[in-house]
Amino acid sequence: MIEIRGVTKSYGDDRPALDGLDLKVAAGEALAVLGPSGSGKSTLLNLIAGLDRPSSGSVAVDGLRVDRMSESALAKYRRSRIGIVFQFFNLLDDLTVLDNVLLPAQLTGTPRGASRRRAGELLEHLRIARHARAFPGRLSGGERQRVAVARALMNRPSLLLADEPTGALDTASAADVRELLTGLHADGQTIMLVTHDRALAAACATTTIELVDGRIAGGVR
Ligand code: ADP
Ligand code: MG
Repeated sequence: MIEIRGVTKSYGDDRPALDGLDLKVAAGEALAVLGPSGSGKSTLLNLIAGLDRPSSGSVAVDGLRVDRMSESALAKYRRSRIGIVFQFFNLLDDLTVLDNVLLPAQLTGTPRGASRRRAGELLEHLRIARHARAFPGRLSGGERQRVAVARALMNRPSLLLADEPTGALDTASAADVRELLTGLHADGQTIMLVTHDRALAAACATTTIELVDGRIAGGVR
């Protein structure tokens, strides 16, 4: 599903953030990327999400060369094939929970009835249905992250990406999100997550790799 070959990403003249990286992730796999701060984890995720381009090397997802896509193809790719969850949720605070979750479906022009049904199911499944009409600011961190996961899943992405999804949560909420991601993986969702949270990697991941200075330092299967 993901095939990365010889990827280097440099910002200016400094040591590259990613240094000749090779990585393959199969469909249905859950990959956790561990590593110290500044080791290139977010950079790697951003290249796969098509939010940034490599300086050299290739990034393919579902057989599509993400590194070569035009801006409009990238926008379509991000809307339809991937879902992303961030450490600080990135919800739109002036939209209700329901409207946040509906947003990706609106961007792809999904018929309103179908997207409402899908949003309703996701909100139920993620136990946030009673907050549908609330604004995100009223919710706890753990609830906000569940809304972010619902939004990421709205368009049934083939790949769910998560960057430190438990990084801003208290212990109980982190355990909750851990369980949620583990359940999604059990249901067949391909997941790639970047995390400091070894408990999350241990619970959810089928494969764990460690990045150090933009290179894969160690893999634990
Ligand atoms: P991590 O997510 O593992 O903490 P990052 O991928 O965010 O690491 O960063 C890797 C390296 O690339 C760091 O040295 C960081 O300072 C640098 N970096 C990341 N993004 C940028 C950017 N937009 N401009 C310049 N340097 C960046
Ligand atoms: Mg990071």
